[in-house]
Amino acid sequence: MAKLGILGAGISGLSAAQLLKNKFETEILEKNSFPGGIARTKDVNNIPYHLVGGHCFNSKYPEVLDFVFNNILPLSEWRKIKRKSKIKFHNQEIDYPIEFSVKQIYKFDKELALKIVADFLNASDNLKYANLEEWFVKKFGKALAEEYFIPYNTKIWNNKPSEMSHLWVEDKLPVPNKHSFFESLIENSQDTMPHAEFFYPISNNQNTFIDALAKKLNIEYNYKVNSISRDIKRNQWLINNEKYYDLIICTLPLKEIPFILENTPEYVKTAGEKLKYNKVSNILWKNRHTDKTWTYIPEKDSLFHRYIHIGAYLNPLQPYSISEVVGEHSWDEMKSSGEKDNFLLEPLDCNTSDYAYVIFDENYNHSTSVIKNYLQERAFHILGRFGEWQYYNMDVCIKKAMDLSRILDCF
Ligand SMILES: Cc1cc2nc3c(=O)[nH]c(=O)nc-3n(C[C@H](O)[C@H](O)[C@H](O)COP(=O)(O)OP(=O)(O)OC[C@H]3O[C@@H](n4cnc5c(N)ncnc54)[C@H](O)[C@@H]3O)c2cc1C
Repeated sequence: MAKLGILGAGISGLSAAQLLKNKFETEILEKNSFPGGIARTKDVNNIPYHLVGGHCFNSKYPEVLDFVFNNILPLSEWRKIKRKSKIKFHNQEIDYPIEFSVKQIYKFDKELALKIVADFLNASDNLKYANLEEWFVKKFGKALAEEYFIPYNTKIWNNKPSEMSHLWVEDKLPVPNKHSFFESLIENSQDTMPHAEFFYPISNNQNTFIDALAKKLNIEYNYKVNSISRDIKRNQWLINNEKYYDLIICTLPLKEIPFILENTPEYVKTAGEKLKYNKVSNILWKNRHTDKTWTYIPEKDSLFHRYIHIGAYLNPLQPYSISEVVGEHSWDEMKSSGEKDNFLLEPLDCNTSDYAYVIFDENYNHSTSVIKNYLQERAFHILGRFGEWQYYNMDVCIKKAMDLSRILDCF
């Protein structure tokens, strides 16, 4: 049996291993002492503190749902939750998505509501966008772009949308057409966005899913991959000068690969150096009771761009939320910003991630192509959110693992 080495035990590496473990002698190498990567939670006051994000699960891919519910964690072990999201907007709370809440805006700012409607209906979309800012203006009209999408995206990318590519957004943000927008003005439109409904384990902890995904896999923990080379004589990959594999799947950040893979030429290393990403920081709070799942905060007076009301994922509901901000921020800075909001009562714990969001700047396409072409020519398989340097949710990581496993099945 050929030997497969999978680098990283996040959702991508675990999924690939589950799909390929009967075909190859499979081993996962993971630098942490636990599986799950950025989807892992930590127990605080019996609450699953999502150290990064809020990790709700759903998918538009039936094969992903089938794989998860029939092979990993049965549907009976999941709770289905309806998304209930709000946006803090001009000191009011309105429903998400904003484009269907113009009637609510009309109640406190009639002029703005009229401007939003006029701009939306007059927006002309020629399907050509110089940057992300232009994409928002052409899809939603100038008023919604300026009042909501541009400030919110400036916060979540820590970057000006005018200096970013629109490419990541396609498929992530369903865009209403003029008919559905008009309908929302005369009827109550429903939230049909991705994750309008989502699944969370009935155990009240995302780790139940992760542990099920890691079950019966051969994982070496506390093993950091520092070097990868090719042993020409043996026709095998060599990790840290000690472990040989016929094949490898790498979920480590693409940016780092040119520096870990031996004999990588300078032009590929330069492309790696140019790839940009953001970290994300958050605080777990005890707060007032709410049944909302998320609150989005485009406004500049709060450091945070959203609250993930993690307690609303649980049964019974619990008064806990995670306030999230892009970049590296100290406990004191986050605490003092959160304390201005009397909804948040007591800060309990905080975290800053390493990789969280890759940045789709003007350099993204060129640099990722240079590295990916180089790796592809060497049959070096990459996978995952940071492995492929993409904006993938967990379900897309699983889908990509399925696609790759079908290719490797022929090996
Ligand atoms: C803020 C935020 C919110 C999110 N919310 C959601 C959500 O609600 N729903 C959803 O579906 N998805 C969500 N996601 C996306 C989801 O987290 C990812 O799609 C998924 O967890 C990525 O898994 P991965 O295995 O590709 O990467 P990772 O989780 O990064 O796994 C890579 C693994 O490789 C290991 N590793 C790294 N370097 C080395 C090394 N040198 N040697 C050995 N091991 C190494 C790491 O420790 C890690 O375990 C969110 C992401 C973020 C950032």
